[in-house]
Amino acid sequence: MRQRALLDWGTSQRRDLPWRRTRDPWRVLVSEIMLQQTQADRVQRYYEAFVERWPTAERFAQASLSEVLAAWQGLGYPRRARNLWQAAKIVTERHRSCVPSDLTDLLALPGVGPYTARAVQAFAFGIDTGVVDTNVGRILARWTGRRLTPSEAQRIADELVPVTDGWAWNQAMMDLGAQICTKRDPSCAGCPVQPWCAWEGSDAPDPADRSAGVSSRQARFEGSDRQARGRLLAALSAGDMRRTDVAGAMGLEREEARARRLVEDLLAEGLISETGDQLRLG
Ligand code: SF4
Repeated sequence: MRQRALLDWGTSQRRDLPWRRTRDPWRVLVSEIMLQQTQADRVQRYYEAFVERWPTAERFAQASLSEVLAAWQGLGYPRRARNLWQAAKIVTERHRSCVPSDLTDLLALPGVGPYTARAVQAFAFGIDTGVVDTNVGRILARWTGRRLTPSEAQRIADELVPVTDGWAWNQAMMDLGAQICTKRDPSCAGCPVQPWCAWEGSDAPDPADRSAGVSSRQARFEGSDRQARGRLLAALSAGDMRRTDVAGAMGLEREEARARRLVEDLLAEGLISETGDQLRLG
């Protein structure tokens, strides 16, 4: 009954997102990597151009890393782009250019963790598995009325999936978390699973705090290493740069040692390379 209530609500309230209009495993994988740590409305601006330019894993694997990083500019967390590029190479070489459906094979791809692997299984292959992102983790904790461990959250999520309705169920759970069971102000009066929710109406602290799958607050961006790294990658996407100009490009003119450390990190991660005193993307 609770499954029917949520499925019906999900069908009537489903957000129209471009990656929900496809079951193509490559497109689903691209969208899920982009959605890690980035809001859906921001991802939409990149996703369609990305899959139009690289419609298959094989085509993407043939691109240079610098092209990929330049196309990723502005989306943030560029390690995701490098991971996706490396994953595309593995898919091309080991899986005959087809994104695999097997959980172990998916988890072996760079940048693919338990959430992303199960999202590809459910949204591309229609496998009845529970997809636990931060929204779903929050709902599960509130629904059960207690903080959950990762294995508990996964087990409960898997048990809740109605047979043959894994795609619709997981989309509905994500929409419920994004629209109704929000982090700060859940709208319990309009929630389709309210009759079965253990936390609703209780004075107990929010069980979603530090429960499995629920992400903690992101660190401040302004003045962060992430901001400085992003500035350098953006500058390098316009052309190579001498080492001596790097601190200025990062906005770290008075923090030369910090700028040097960040450059070394980017070199070690393979996001930039160096020839002589020239730095370049990829
Ligand atoms: S009843 Fe309230 S707390 Fe419970 S799942 Fe619905 S919105 Fe979340």
